[in-house]
Amino acid sequence: MTPNVLPFPEVVDGSLSPGGPLGDAQAQLAAAVATLGYEPGLHEMLARPRREMTVSVPLRRDDGSVEILTGHRVQHNFSRGPAKGGLRFAPNVDLDEVRALAMWMTWKCALLDVPYGGAKGGVRIDPRNYSQAELERVTRRYTSEILPIIGPERDIPAPDIGTDEATMAWMMDTYSVSSGYTVPGVVTGKPVSLGGSLGRASATSAGVVHVALAALAHRGVPVAGATAAVQGFGKVGAGAAQFLAEAGVTVVAVSDQYGAVHAAGGLDVPALQAHVADTGSVVGFGGGEVLDPPALLELDVDLLVPAAVEGVLHGGNAARVRARIVVEGANGPTTGEADRILDEAGVLVVPDILANAGGVIVSYFEWVQSNQAYWWSRQEVDDRLERRMLQAWDGVLATAGARGLTLREAATVTAVERVADAHLTRGLYP
Ligand code: NAD
Repeated sequence: MTPNVLPFPEVVDGSLSPGGPLGDAQAQLAAAVATLGYEPGLHEMLARPRREMTVSVPLRRDDGSVEILTGHRVQHNFSRGPAKGGLRFAPNVDLDEVRALAMWMTWKCALLDVPYGGAKGGVRIDPRNYSQAELERVTRRYTSEILPIIGPERDIPAPDIGTDEATMAWMMDTYSVSSGYTVPGVVTGKPVSLGGSLGRASATSAGVVHVALAALAHRGVPVAGATAAVQGFGKVGAGAAQFLAEAGVTVVAVSDQYGAVHAAGGLDVPALQAHVADTGSVVGFGGGEVLDPPALLELDVDLLVPAAVEGVLHGGNAARVRARIVVEGANGPTTGEADRILDEAGVLVVPDILANAGGVIVSYFEWVQSNQAYWWSRQEVDDRLERRMLQAWDGVLATAGARGLTLREAATVTAVERVADAHLTRGLYP
């Protein structure tokens, strides 16, 4: 287990900002703590991860050579229950990013009132450069390295960027083989055939669209005639584009890491999904024109859904954003500076910890089903998801109105207060 290398007290008092996603996460917490009037000791408890693990992941490549990868698992908080959070395979994974993502998971779970704390994992790898067999070996070795700190009552991983239900199946199998019996509740986002939940694969996207439609209604924008641009066409972005189109919103542009396509009259989203399934990218899709990817963020649309990576809306481009509403499908797509610029410009930003919480809600449903070995219908999952998303939306909107806060501030304050309450009620041991 690695020691805490972050100089947390300095980060908390703002004298040393780590920048990047962790700087944004710490600044959001600091603002919530100021609103709630908490003392420094409580602030620091909320700022520090409870546990961090950095592991070497040796991989035998298909050609027989050996490569050593680095992986992390950060458990930010478990005052309200087991830690919960995704596993990311990406070339730029680093410990500070994982720390930020773990903290956001704590707030997300508390905001949606699912009985978990927050965690996140990552392996520094570009999965596109590895075979399925190599990715399976990476997943199994990483799982085996972090085995002592995960489990259905400890920390429950799920898919994130670069991982999918096959990754979760390998994790579950590795954990189960080591335990000597099958433990379906150790991960969520599993294939349905292994105890995954119906509706989990599309849950994050469905949740994004539930709050996007609520935000349109809140701003008085009729769905018929509303337009949207979606950045990222992976598990979250592709589903969000599909559900927006099915709801009657005109999706005028989408992008992925390779390029972007635009059609003023609306993209044929199912045809685009078929193109991506065939070619691996939105590039070359015949039903639209080529768009410079950064320009997607500045299109004149009602809804902008960043659903790719952190920090894409920043001080350098936020003033050029013309969308009326930003719905954060990704975690941390808006930097603190961009947040201020968008707020001053009157852009409604629906924050990540609310907007993309559909995934963890149905992960919770999956964990409940796995632990009870009793399965719900797709309709039941979808109905419960919608109810929870809209309840959370109503709560955040009411808090924002009552306290004069942005939606992000209101969501963070609500979540931080719940975590602090749990912490204080449990008391300090010894
Ligand atoms: P994914 O790997 O399935 O898809 C990521 C997509 O983003 C891909 O289309 C990729 O090409 C694209 N992309 C990467 N860099 C880009 C860039 N610079 N510009 C444009 N596109 C880019 O990952 P995902 O699961 O869809 O996750 C996307 C975001 O949503 C992440 O921030 C993740 O943490 C967040 N999220 C995911 C879930 C989930 O259930 N999968 C839940 C909550 C939040």
